[in-house]
Amino acid sequence: MDLYSGHINKLIDELAALPGIGNKSAQRLAFYIIGMSPARVKSLASSIVDARENVHYCACCQNLTDTELCPICEDAKRDHKTIMVVENPRDLAAYEKTGRYEGVYHVLHGAISPMLGIGPDDIRLKELMKRIAEEDIEEVIVATNSSLEGETTAMYISKLVKGAGVKVTRIASGVPVGGDLEYIDEVTLLRALEGRTEL
Ligand code: ZN
Repeated sequence: MDLYSGHINKLIDELAALPGIGNKSAQRLAFYIIGMSPARVKSLASSIVDARENVHYCACCQNLTDTELCPICEDAKRDHKTIMVVENPRDLAAYEKTGRYEGVYHVLHGAISPMLGIGPDDIRLKELMKRIAEEDIEEVIVATNSSLEGETTAMYISKLVKGAGVKVTRIASGVPVGGDLEYIDEVTLLRALEGRTEL
């Protein structure tokens, strides 16, 4: 027999399906939501729908944005000849938080993983190579994670980019193996960036 009504169970199931939210957290959130005022619940629900409907990938760097080009790609003060390649928008946010990187980015939205069946065509690599072919790029900094997938991806990218005659560097491995960039403090991120080596 179900402990709660169908509506509550459905809400708990939906929340529990989100990453990082277990059953207990889902229950806690569901009860919290039910205790919220109808106006706040509507505002929460519509911000989820609005974000999903209006946010898409930047036409240039593939970062999430609600404009054609993201604010970083639009910024004329940034160095558009240096591209830092990251796995996801969270890694980009981590480097932006340091406030010291002046180039632009390219977001892959994943990493190559033969084990999971994720190949080069499943991440935003074609878009990167198109930028390199069409724009005047001086350096590509590969800042994928230092996991097996991140290193595999870095190798693959370095071959492609070098083949296109553009300098390619890898951030220093002050970043712990298997470490997610987003959890690493800003000092370590900057040290990794400054200590980058040519591939
Ligand atoms: Zn962009």
